[in-house]
Amino acid sequence: MKHKLRLAAILAFVGLVSAFFVFRLTSGGIAQRIKIRASLLIDPINLSEVSSEDDDWQLILVNAQNPLPENFSVELAELSNGQKVDRRIYPQLQKMFDDARAEGIFPSVTSAFRTEEKQRSLLEEETEKRVNQGESYRAAREAAKKWVAEPGRSEHQTGLALDINSADEARSSSDSVHKWLIKNSYKYGFILRYPENKTDITGIANESWHFRYVGAAAAKEIHDRGLCLEEYIKIIRKQSARNSGSRR
Ligand SMILES: [Zn+2]
Repeated sequence: MKHKLRLAAILAFVGLVSAFFVFRLTSGGIAQRIKIRASLLIDPINLSEVSSEDDDWQLILVNAQNPLPENFSVELAELSNGQKVDRRIYPQLQKMFDDARAEGIFPSVTSAFRTEEKQRSLLEEETEKRVNQGESYRAAREAAKKWVAEPGRSEHQTGLALDINSADEARSSSDSVHKWLIKNSYKYGFILRYPENKTDITGIANESWHFRYVGAAAAKEIHDRGLCLEEYIKIIRKQSARNSGSRR
């Protein structure tokens, strides 16, 4: 009798353990299926609006993994304060600043196009500042790179990236300038390039002043979907690969 009881207990235990594993396996499967379905629910991006070849310049990706092409060149327009930007973005930039001023916000481009040499000296300066505070050169360099990109890997070399702050702190603080731009810049084709919640993807610390021109259609998608440029480009590449695959 005792023997039978023990056998029943063992059988019940084995049954419970296997039921647990079966449950884990199937629920994992369900979770995965739900995830895949959810990603399909997001409307596809309208590629005809964003990826004609003439507009490729707007979506150039420059970051630690994607250096500027060797043959890169850009025609610049000079702003009244001497900063230079890609001449093609000048009209939209002007319009954005006019509209901001009409709302009592006074922005100023404090850094735009940089040469490779300028980028190199900025990174050196940032590194040196940290070495002087007692960090080792290597640690200082790593920390500096979170704020200042390496030469050849800075968006500022494209003329499409702008650091924007206040033109007059007494009239509108840099903080209010950034807030206005984060809310409105997409209407003019600009995005906040390094949002706080994307630092693990962009590799750059949250820079509330760094805006990037990507064109109006892309800027709206990035703004509305809460993406960063790296994510957006990944999506449209995947989508256009899928489209060209289905056309074959
Ligand atoms: Zn910047």
